[in-house]
Amino acid sequence: MTALSRGAKAPRRGIRSTIVGSLPKPAWLAQPGILYAPWRVGLDALSEAQEDAIRLCVAEQVTAGLDVVTDGEQCRQHYVWGFLEGVEGVDTRNLALKPMRGRRFKPEAPAARLVGAPSYRGSRSIAGVRAVKRQTDRPVKATLPGPMTVVDSILDDTGGRSEADLAMVFARLLNEEARALAAAGAEIVQFDEPCFNIYLAETRDWGIAALERAIAGVGAKTAVHICYGYGGTEVTAWKESNRDWSHYEHTLPLVAKTAIDQVSIETAASKVDLAILDALRGKDVLLGLVDVGSERIETAAEIAGGLRRALAYVPRERLYACTDCGLVLRSRGAASGKMHALARAAALVDAEAERASEV
Ligand code: ZN
Repeated sequence: MTALSRGAKAPRRGIRSTIVGSLPKPAWLAQPGILYAPWRVGLDALSEAQEDAIRLCVAEQVTAGLDVVTDGEQCRQHYVWGFLEGVEGVDTRNLALKPMRGRRFKPEAPAARLVGAPSYRGSRSIAGVRAVKRQTDRPVKATLPGPMTVVDSILDDTGGRSEADLAMVFARLLNEEARALAAAGAEIVQFDEPCFNIYLAETRDWGIAALERAIAGVGAKTAVHICYGYGGTEVTAWKESNRDWSHYEHTLPLVAKTAIDQVSIETAASKVDLAILDALRGKDVLLGLVDVGSERIETAAEIAGGLRRALAYVPRERLYACTDCGLVLRSRGAASGKMHALARAAALVDAEAERASEV
Protein backbone atom coordinates (compact mmCIF):
# COMPACT_ATOMS: atom_id res chain seq x y z
CA MET A 1 0.00 0.00 0.00
CA THR A 2 1.43 3.39 -0.93
CA ALA A 3 1.53 6.28 1.46
CA LEU A 4 -0.89 8.13 -0.80
CA SER A 5 -3.52 5.41 -0.66
CA ARG A 6 -3.19 5.41 3.12
CA GLY A 7 -4.42 8.98 3.14
CA ALA A 8 -1.11 10.63 3.90
CA LYS A 9 -0.72 14.25 3.01
CA ALA A 10 1.46 17.14 3.97
CA PRO A 11 0.22 18.62 7.25
CA ARG A 12 -1.93 21.67 6.60
CA ARG A 13 -0.65 24.85 8.12
CA GLY A 14 -3.99 26.61 8.26
CA ILE A 15 -7.43 25.69 9.56
CA ARG A 16 -7.88 21.93 9.91
CA SER A 17 -10.95 19.75 10.24
CA THR A 18 -11.94 16.78 12.38
CA ILE A 19 -14.88 15.26 14.26
CA VAL A 20 -15.52 14.90 17.99
CA GLY A 21 -15.28 11.10 17.90
CA SER A 22 -18.18 8.80 17.12
CA LEU A 23 -19.72 7.95 13.75
CA PRO A 24 -22.83 5.91 12.97
CA LYS A 25 -22.27 2.16 12.91
CA PRO A 26 -23.18 0.17 9.80
CA ALA A 27 -26.59 -1.51 10.21
CA TRP A 28 -24.95 -4.93 9.94
CA LEU A 29 -22.84 -4.16 13.02
CA ALA A 30 -25.38 -2.56 15.37
CA GLN A 31 -28.88 -1.12 15.31
CA PRO A 32 -28.65 2.39 13.84
CA GLY A 33 -30.03 5.55 15.41
CA ILE A 34 -29.88 4.62 19.10
CA LEU A 35 -27.40 4.82 21.96
CA TYR A 36 -26.26 1.55 23.61
CA ALA A 37 -27.24 -0.18 20.34
CA PRO A 38 -27.03 -3.98 20.63
CA TRP A 39 -24.48 -5.72 18.43
CA ARG A 40 -25.90 -7.59 15.44
CA VAL A 41 -22.80 -9.75 15.05
CA GLY A 42 -22.00 -12.73 17.27
CA LEU A 43 -19.06 -12.65 19.67
CA ASP A 44 -17.09 -15.05 17.46
CA ALA A 45 -16.99 -12.49 14.62
CA LEU A 46 -17.39 -9.21 16.53
CA SER A 47 -13.81 -7.95 16.61
CA GLU A 48 -13.34 -8.71 12.90
CA ALA A 49 -16.61 -6.92 12.10
CA GLN A 50 -15.58 -3.91 14.21
CA GLU A 51 -12.28 -3.64 12.33
CA ASP A 52 -14.17 -3.80 9.03
CA ALA A 53 -16.42 -0.98 10.26
CA ILE A 54 -13.37 1.05 11.31
CA ARG A 55 -11.95 0.58 7.81
CA LEU A 56 -15.12 2.16 6.38
CA CYS A 57 -15.04 4.98 8.94
CA VAL A 58 -11.43 5.84 8.16
CA ALA A 59 -12.11 5.77 4.41
CA GLU A 60 -15.06 8.15 4.90
CA GLN A 61 -12.97 10.58 6.93
CA VAL A 62 -9.98 10.49 4.57
CA THR A 63 -12.20 10.85 1.49
CA ALA A 64 -14.00 13.77 3.11
CA GLY A 65 -10.62 15.42 3.68
CA LEU A 66 -10.48 15.49 7.48
CA ASP A 67 -7.02 16.16 8.88
CA VAL A 68 -7.36 14.17 12.13
CA VAL A 69 -9.28 10.88 12.15
CA THR A 70 -10.86 8.58 14.75
CA ASP A 71 -12.07 4.98 14.86
CA GLY A 72 -15.65 6.29 14.89
CA GLU A 73 -16.07 4.49 18.24
CA GLN A 74 -17.02 1.32 16.36
CA CYS A 75 -15.78 -0.96 19.18
CA ARG A 76 -17.94 0.43 21.97
CA GLN A 77 -21.68 0.64 22.60
CA HIS A 78 -21.38 3.82 24.64
CA TYR A 79 -18.58 6.28 25.24
CA VAL A 80 -18.63 5.88 29.02
CA TRP A 81 -19.28 2.15 29.29
CA GLY A 82 -16.74 1.30 26.65
CA PHE A 83 -14.20 2.34 29.27
CA LEU A 84 -16.02 1.00 32.34
CA GLU A 85 -16.31 -2.49 30.84
CA GLY A 86 -12.55 -2.68 31.18
CA VAL A 87 -12.51 -1.74 34.88
CA GLU A 88 -12.52 -4.42 37.58
CA GLY A 89 -15.03 -3.63 40.32
CA VAL A 90 -17.64 -2.10 37.98
CA ASP A 91 -20.79 -4.01 36.96
CA THR A 92 -22.02 -2.85 33.54
CA ARG A 93 -24.66 -5.61 33.23
CA ASN A 94 -26.90 -5.27 36.30
CA LEU A 95 -27.73 -1.62 35.92
CA ALA A 96 -29.22 0.79 38.42
CA LEU A 97 -31.38 3.83 37.79
CA LYS A 98 -29.81 7.05 38.99
CA PRO A 99 -30.45 10.79 38.66
CA MET A 100 -27.82 11.77 36.12
CA ARG A 101 -26.52 14.81 34.22
CA GLY A 102 -28.17 17.07 36.83
CA ARG A 103 -31.60 15.70 35.73
CA ARG A 104 -31.27 18.05 32.78
CA PHE A 105 -32.73 15.64 30.22
CA LYS A 106 -34.73 13.12 32.29
CA PRO A 107 -35.24 12.25 35.98
CA GLU A 108 -33.14 9.07 35.94
CA ALA A 109 -30.94 7.08 33.58
CA PRO A 110 -29.33 3.61 33.68
CA ALA A 111 -26.05 3.62 35.59
CA ALA A 112 -23.28 1.06 35.96
CA ARG A 113 -22.71 -0.12 39.54
CA LEU A 114 -19.48 0.24 41.48
CA VAL A 115 -19.33 -3.03 43.44
CA GLY A 116 -15.67 -3.23 44.49
CA ALA A 117 -12.35 -1.44 44.41
CA PRO A 118 -11.92 -0.22 40.82
CA SER A 119 -8.77 -1.37 39.07
CA TYR A 120 -7.48 -1.23 35.50
CA ARG A 121 -7.69 -4.50 33.59
CA GLY A 122 -5.83 -3.32 30.50
CA SER A 123 -6.83 -1.24 27.54
CA ARG A 124 -10.23 -1.70 25.93
CA SER A 125 -9.82 0.86 23.17
CA ILE A 126 -6.30 0.20 21.98
CA ALA A 127 -7.57 -2.14 19.23
CA GLY A 128 -9.40 0.81 17.65
CA VAL A 129 -6.28 2.97 17.53
CA ARG A 130 -4.23 0.14 16.02
CA ALA A 131 -6.93 -0.55 13.43
CA VAL A 132 -6.98 3.10 12.33
CA LYS A 133 -3.19 3.22 12.09
CA ARG A 134 -3.23 0.21 9.78
CA GLN A 135 -5.44 2.26 7.41
CA THR A 136 -3.98 5.73 7.36
CA ASP A 137 -0.94 7.84 8.17
CA ARG A 138 -3.09 10.78 9.23
CA PRO A 139 -3.00 11.76 12.91
CA VAL A 140 -5.34 9.63 15.03
CA LYS A 141 -7.43 10.85 17.93
CA ALA A 142 -8.60 8.41 20.62
CA THR A 143 -11.45 9.32 22.95
CA LEU A 144 -12.17 8.48 26.60
CA PRO A 145 -14.78 9.72 29.06
CA GLY A 146 -13.57 12.31 31.55
CA PRO A 147 -13.41 11.43 35.27
CA MET A 148 -16.38 13.62 36.30
CA THR A 149 -18.60 12.14 33.59
CA VAL A 150 -17.54 8.62 34.63
CA VAL A 151 -18.49 9.30 38.25
CA ASP A 152 -21.84 10.77 37.17
CA SER A 153 -22.54 7.58 35.17
CA ILE A 154 -22.07 5.08 37.99
CA LEU A 155 -23.89 4.28 41.21
CA ASP A 156 -21.52 3.65 44.11
CA ASP A 157 -22.84 0.50 45.82
CA THR A 158 -19.76 0.37 48.02
CA GLY A 159 -20.55 3.73 49.61
CA GLY A 160 -18.35 5.87 51.79
CA ARG A 161 -16.45 7.83 49.15
CA SER A 162 -17.14 11.35 47.96
CA GLU A 163 -17.61 11.98 44.26
CA ALA A 164 -14.42 14.03 44.33
CA ASP A 165 -12.42 11.11 45.77
CA LEU A 166 -13.98 8.67 43.33
CA ALA A 167 -13.19 10.98 40.41
CA MET A 168 -9.52 10.94 41.43
CA VAL A 169 -9.56 7.12 41.56
CA PHE A 170 -10.99 6.94 38.04
CA ALA A 171 -8.65 9.69 36.85
CA ARG A 172 -5.71 7.41 37.71
CA LEU A 173 -7.26 4.53 35.73
CA LEU A 174 -8.08 6.80 32.81
CA ASN A 175 -4.50 8.03 32.91
CA GLU A 176 -3.24 4.45 32.51
CA GLU A 177 -5.56 3.98 29.54
CA ALA A 178 -4.51 7.30 28.00
CA ARG A 179 -0.83 6.40 28.33
CA ALA A 180 -1.51 3.05 26.65
CA LEU A 181 -3.35 4.74 23.77
CA ALA A 182 -0.50 7.20 23.30
CA ALA A 183 2.01 4.34 23.32
CA ALA A 184 -0.07 2.61 20.63
CA GLY A 185 0.37 5.66 18.42
CA ALA A 186 -2.60 7.93 19.14
CA GLU A 187 -1.43 11.47 18.40
CA ILE A 188 -4.29 12.95 20.46
CA VAL A 189 -6.15 11.55 23.47
CA GLN A 190 -9.43 13.32 24.18
CA PHE A 191 -11.50 13.25 27.36
CA ASP A 192 -15.25 13.81 26.98
CA GLU A 193 -16.61 15.90 29.84
CA PRO A 194 -20.18 17.02 29.09
CA CYS A 195 -20.63 17.28 32.87
CA PHE A 196 -18.36 20.34 32.86
CA ASN A 197 -21.36 22.17 31.35
CA ILE A 198 -23.71 20.92 34.09
CA TYR A 199 -21.98 20.81 37.49
CA LEU A 200 -20.26 24.18 37.46
CA ALA A 201 -19.29 24.38 41.15
CA GLU A 202 -18.04 20.78 41.20
CA THR A 203 -16.05 21.38 38.02
CA ARG A 204 -14.26 24.21 39.78
CA ASP A 205 -13.88 22.35 43.10
CA TRP A 206 -12.59 18.96 41.84
CA GLY A 207 -13.49 18.26 38.19
CA ILE A 208 -10.59 20.23 36.75
CA ALA A 209 -8.12 18.64 39.19
CA ALA A 210 -9.35 15.16 38.20
CA LEU A 211 -8.92 16.01 34.52
CA GLU A 212 -5.38 17.22 35.17
CA ARG A 213 -4.62 13.93 36.92
CA ALA A 214 -6.01 12.03 33.91
CA ILE A 215 -3.73 13.82 31.42
CA ALA A 216 -0.54 13.81 33.53
CA GLY A 217 2.44 12.40 31.64
CA VAL A 218 0.41 11.22 28.64
CA GLY A 219 2.78 11.00 25.65
CA ALA A 220 0.36 12.59 23.18
CA LYS A 221 -1.51 15.83 22.74
CA THR A 222 -4.48 15.94 25.09
CA ALA A 223 -7.95 17.33 24.47
CA VAL A 224 -11.15 17.89 26.40
CA HIS A 225 -14.57 17.86 24.75
CA ILE A 226 -17.26 19.86 26.53
CA CYS A 227 -20.70 19.88 24.92
CA TYR A 228 -24.45 19.93 25.55
CA GLY A 229 -24.99 16.29 24.60
CA TYR A 230 -25.74 14.02 21.66
CA GLY A 231 -28.56 14.95 19.31
CA GLY A 232 -31.18 12.60 20.78
CA THR A 233 -34.81 13.59 21.27
CA GLU A 234 -34.55 14.61 24.95
CA VAL A 235 -31.33 16.55 24.46
CA THR A 236 -32.65 18.34 21.39
CA ALA A 237 -35.85 19.30 23.27
CA TRP A 238 -33.73 20.67 26.13
CA LYS A 239 -31.56 22.69 23.73
CA GLU A 240 -34.65 24.19 22.10
CA SER A 241 -36.13 25.30 25.44
CA ASN A 242 -32.90 26.36 27.17
CA ARG A 243 -32.23 30.08 27.52
CA ASP A 244 -29.04 30.07 29.62
CA TRP A 245 -25.90 29.40 27.58
CA SER A 246 -23.45 30.87 30.10
CA HIS A 247 -21.88 27.54 31.20
CA TYR A 248 -18.74 27.92 29.10
CA GLU A 249 -18.12 31.31 30.71
CA HIS A 250 -17.50 29.40 33.96
CA THR A 251 -15.69 26.34 32.63
CA LEU A 252 -13.45 27.55 29.81
CA PRO A 253 -11.34 30.00 31.90
CA LEU A 254 -10.61 27.07 34.27
CA VAL A 255 -9.76 24.72 31.41
CA ALA A 256 -7.50 27.41 29.93
CA LYS A 257 -5.27 27.24 33.01
CA THR A 258 -4.64 23.48 32.62
CA ALA A 259 -2.02 21.77 30.46
CA ILE A 260 -4.72 20.51 28.06
CA ASP A 261 -3.64 21.18 24.45
CA GLN A 262 -7.03 21.20 22.71
CA VAL A 263 -10.58 22.21 23.71
CA SER A 264 -13.64 21.04 21.79
CA ILE A 265 -16.84 23.05 22.24
CA GLU A 266 -20.34 23.16 20.78
CA THR A 267 -21.76 26.25 19.05
CA ALA A 268 -24.01 25.02 16.21
CA ALA A 269 -27.08 23.59 17.98
CA SER A 270 -26.68 25.86 21.01
CA LYS A 271 -26.78 29.62 21.22
CA VAL A 272 -23.25 30.07 22.51
CA ASP A 273 -21.63 33.40 21.71
CA LEU A 274 -18.29 32.87 19.93
CA ALA A 275 -16.79 35.65 22.08
CA ILE A 276 -16.25 32.89 24.67
CA LEU A 277 -13.33 31.74 22.51
CA ASP A 278 -11.38 34.67 23.96
CA ALA A 279 -10.99 32.55 27.12
CA LEU A 280 -9.10 29.86 25.19
CA ARG A 281 -6.07 31.80 23.99
CA GLY A 282 -3.07 29.49 23.77
CA LYS A 283 -5.20 26.37 23.15
CA ASP A 284 -6.14 24.57 19.96
CA VAL A 285 -9.88 25.06 19.48
CA LEU A 286 -12.09 22.36 17.96
CA LEU A 287 -15.07 24.52 17.08
CA GLY A 288 -18.43 22.77 16.84
CA LEU A 289 -20.09 24.18 13.71
CA VAL A 290 -22.11 21.09 12.77
CA ASP A 291 -25.35 20.13 14.54
CA VAL A 292 -25.33 16.43 15.48
CA GLY A 293 -29.08 16.46 16.22
CA SER A 294 -30.22 17.03 12.64
CA GLU A 295 -30.00 15.16 9.35
CA ARG A 296 -29.71 18.45 7.50
CA ILE A 297 -26.23 18.78 6.02
CA GLU A 298 -24.72 22.18 6.68
CA THR A 299 -23.29 23.95 3.67
CA ALA A 300 -19.56 24.66 3.52
CA ALA A 301 -20.48 28.37 3.26
CA GLU A 302 -22.39 28.24 6.58
CA ILE A 303 -19.51 26.53 8.37
CA ALA A 304 -17.02 28.91 6.74
CA GLY A 305 -19.00 31.81 8.21
CA GLY A 306 -18.44 30.42 11.71
CA LEU A 307 -14.74 29.89 11.04
CA ARG A 308 -14.32 33.48 9.86
CA ARG A 309 -15.98 34.78 13.03
CA ALA A 310 -13.79 32.52 15.17
CA LEU A 311 -10.63 33.92 13.56
CA ALA A 312 -11.22 37.09 15.59
CA TYR A 313 -10.25 35.03 18.67
CA VAL A 314 -8.26 31.99 17.49
CA PRO A 315 -5.21 32.00 15.19
CA ARG A 316 -5.88 29.88 12.10
CA GLU A 317 -3.15 27.36 12.92
CA ARG A 318 -4.97 26.62 16.20
CA LEU A 319 -8.48 26.40 14.69
CA TYR A 320 -10.26 23.17 13.71
CA ALA A 321 -13.67 22.96 12.03
CA CYS A 322 -15.48 20.28 14.01
CA THR A 323 -18.82 18.76 14.94
CA ASP A 324 -20.73 19.78 18.09
CA CYS A 325 -20.54 16.25 19.49
CA GLY A 326 -20.49 12.64 18.24
CA LEU A 327 -22.35 11.73 15.05
CA VAL A 328 -23.38 8.27 16.33
CA LEU A 329 -27.13 8.93 16.05
CA ARG A 330 -27.06 10.27 12.52
CA SER A 331 -27.51 8.32 9.28
CA ARG A 332 -24.31 7.36 7.50
CA GLY A 333 -25.26 9.60 4.58
CA ALA A 334 -25.76 12.66 6.76
CA ALA A 335 -22.55 11.98 8.70
CA SER A 336 -20.61 11.70 5.45
CA GLY A 337 -22.12 14.92 4.07
CA LYS A 338 -21.36 16.82 7.24
CA MET A 339 -17.71 15.66 7.23
CA HIS A 340 -17.26 16.72 3.62
CA ALA A 341 -18.75 20.14 4.45
CA LEU A 342 -16.35 20.59 7.39
CA ALA A 343 -13.27 19.91 5.28
CA ARG A 344 -14.51 22.07 2.39
CA ALA A 345 -15.21 24.97 4.76
CA ALA A 346 -11.71 24.80 6.26
CA ALA A 347 -10.17 24.78 2.77
CA LEU A 348 -12.44 27.64 1.66
CA VAL A 349 -11.43 29.98 4.48
CA ASP A 350 -7.76 29.07 4.08
CA ALA A 351 -7.90 29.82 0.37
CA GLU A 352 -9.25 33.29 1.16
CA ALA A 353 -6.26 33.94 3.41
CA GLU A 354 -3.83 32.77 0.71
CA ARG A 355 -5.45 35.04 -1.87
CA ALA A 356 -5.32 37.96 0.56
CA SER A 357 -1.62 37.38 1.22
CA GLU A 358 -0.90 37.39 -2.53
CA VAL A 359 -2.47 40.79 -3.03
ZN1 ZN B 1 -20.38 15.68 23.19
